[in-house]
Amino acid sequence: MRIVTRRLAQQLVLAAFAAALLLAPLASLMPGETIASRTPNTFHWARKQSQFTLQVGDNVDGGWNSLLTRVVSDWNKGDTVTFRVVGGSTSQQECRERQGTVQVCNFRYGTQEGWLGLTRLYFNDRGDHVDAATVMMNDSFLNAGSQYNTEAARRHTLCHELGHTPGLDHVSSNSCMNDSQQAVFNNLAPINKDFRQLERIYQHKDSTSTVAGKQKKQKKKNQDSTDRDGKKRRDRDDRRRDRDRNRDRSDRAGTESFFDPTSLPAVPSGADADETVLVETLDDGRTVVTFITWADEAAVEEAASDE
Ligand SMILES: [Zn+2]
Ligand SMILES: [Zn+2]
Repeated sequence: MRIVTRRLAQQLVLAAFAAALLLAPLASLMPGETIASRTPNTFHWARKQSQFTLQVGDNVDGGWNSLLTRVVSDWNKGDTVTFRVVGGSTSQQECRERQGTVQVCNFRYGTQEGWLGLTRLYFNDRGDHVDAATVMMNDSFLNAGSQYNTEAARRHTLCHELGHTPGLDHVSSNSCMNDSQQAVFNNLAPINKDFRQLERIYQHKDSTSTVAGKQKKQKKKNQDSTDRDGKKRRDRDDRRRDRDRNRDRSDRAGTESFFDPTSLPAVPSGADADETVLVETLDDGRTVVTFITWADEAAVEEAASDE
């Protein structure tokens, strides 16, 4: 099948590119294991409360700065994750991860690999929670002579990639998390469904945290339960605590591991999906999941002939 071949070729090119660019050779890249059309929608950061703040390191320049502000405020309409833009900690070209944060970068990363945007989720040593993320915007398409050099395509791609960082997967709605080519020019913001999905992902509380920075104290509900319903409410709270304790236990037992081979389907999805998801193991044993938004094939060829 043509599409599968193209994807495989792109994966190999990307792996080589990543090894060269990020100076962190990617080991054990086995095609059978690295193609995942759908990822479990449970990739998430560890935190002790269901609402949390995620620092976004600003490594962008030019028009990307105002766009980052805009996209962050679009995402901050939800209650679960609050992105907070802070100073960046990496070079735009390398876009290295920093623990506990999301680092956003733009650069002319080149047209050979054919990607518009790329999000990496770095997992902690145990492989059960995300503990760093990077987002790269490719100016070689988004700020150069290509059909993607539009405010809409830039806004979609930034919204889309930023949405992956707390663990959102692709959707077929009119959200920016839609990964079709049509969505690149039309779906520019998150929708309520995305916020509800985030709420679901982060409903449980973890016993540890992989998120950097001070977290706001969350208001305790049912604190003043001295009325006649007090007894009932206490029972309910006890049950809830038991549930949380059980969850903590299962957390420790490692049942939250996402890299069980059976949890990653090995066949690329339908022809509409313009994205690939790679699961890689770094030399230091950490797992990295990469979401890639590809440019349209014709656009890549055109860019190549321009160079
Ligand atoms: Zn968790
Ligand atoms: Zn995506």
